[in-house]
Amino acid sequence: MERIDAVVIGAGVVGLAVARALALKGREVVVVEAADGVGTGTSSRNSEVIHAGLYYPAGSLKARLCVAGKLALYRFCAERGVPHLNCGKLIVATHPEQLGKLDAIKAKGAANGVDDLRLLGAAEAMAMEPALSCVAALWSPSSGIVDSHALMLALQGEAEDKGAMFAFGSPILGGAALEEGISLSVGGAEPMEVAARTVVNAAGLHAQEIARTIRGLPQDSVPPRWYAKGNYFTLSGRSPFSRLIYPVPEPGGLGVHVTIDMGGQARFGPDVEWVDRIDYTVDPRRGDRFYAAVRRYWPDLKDGALQPGYAGIRPKLVPAGAPDADFLVQGPATHGVPGLINLYGIESPGLTASLALADMVAEMAGA
Ligand SMILES: Cc1cc2nc3c(=O)[nH]c(=O)nc-3n(C[C@H](O)[C@H](O)[C@H](O)COP(=O)(O)OP(=O)(O)OC[C@H]3O[C@@H](n4cnc5c(N)ncnc54)[C@H](O)[C@@H]3O)c2cc1C
Repeated sequence: MERIDAVVIGAGVVGLAVARALALKGREVVVVEAADGVGTGTSSRNSEVIHAGLYYPAGSLKARLCVAGKLALYRFCAERGVPHLNCGKLIVATHPEQLGKLDAIKAKGAANGVDDLRLLGAAEAMAMEPALSCVAALWSPSSGIVDSHALMLALQGEAEDKGAMFAFGSPILGGAALEEGISLSVGGAEPMEVAARTVVNAAGLHAQEIARTIRGLPQDSVPPRWYAKGNYFTLSGRSPFSRLIYPVPEPGGLGVHVTIDMGGQARFGPDVEWVDRIDYTVDPRRGDRFYAAVRRYWPDLKDGALQPGYAGIRPKLVPAGAPDADFLVQGPATHGVPGLINLYGIESPGLTASLALADMVAEMAGA
């Protein structure tokens, strides 16, 4: 059996950030990834928004890691030339009944240390974005966008520079707790058994599945999971907005918002569709709901302007209708298996939080 100091399972943005953090601390790291390259899962199927940290309960991992991760991400991108834009975001109320929600988001943001939020009247918001229709808005200047693939390549490059190795096309098939560390069965073209002092399970949508195969890990430590798909529709032509436009949040997601990519292309989404399997097809019939949702804040949206885009899937720890759960980071203190760290429910704002989450995991791993 091959012995390795640290194995990271999954080369999404979180696994890559963890691999980099461990490698920067001088650990020997191998990233084991089922797919043929980095970021083929949720990390390339999201809104690419750098979140400010407004929506999460004070003190939660989501709140703390989002706020810290946002600062770290802006710094990282600026220093490494990763395309990003601090364009800011307007959260818009389109009905007087929603005004209280803007106040509540502002208060939640302030409790999380986001103290630059400003409530705007309709005229001020619509002067900033002439295509917009709203009754009031909350301005979040620290929100932005990032090219998530460029970010992942930068993380991979830096991890490799510090000696990390990548095994692609190498699915983890199972594992077992050893007296010291964990053994893993790796499939693919060159199947092998490896033993590692530290294993970080950053397998996203499959994290529970992998954890359940690890003999010696108490099964009742593995949380249930649900999938909430988010579909996107894209707009032909350039975005009518230069900032992010979000409605007030809806259960399970943040509402069908407008994001722009680094090329100025607009996309709308994601909606919330609870599913029981991974299927990234976007049903064009869902378009009707998008027109209705978007026209609440952009009445000039023309018939036929939206095309089905792409979809991502949120790894949820709670079913439809339940209040959102926090990120779940389980180390030996929780489950009793030395060296094993399982990351569950890393939905939004996981992209924003990735660098801060990685620092936390590296510290737990004793790096
Ligand atoms: C619709 C949607 C919109 C979002 N928008 C935003 C946003 O705007 N801003 C933000 O901050 N966050 C956003 N998020 C959240 C963010 O995208 C995720 O938190 C983040 O990408 C999770 O990264 P990850 O590395 O944990 O998972 P993934 O990117 O899914 O990576 C997991 C990796 O593990 C690999 N893997 C799985 N099983 C195995 C196995 N058996 N063996 C080896 N490898 C395996 C997979 O192939 C994959 O590469 C959004 C999420 C969704 C779904």
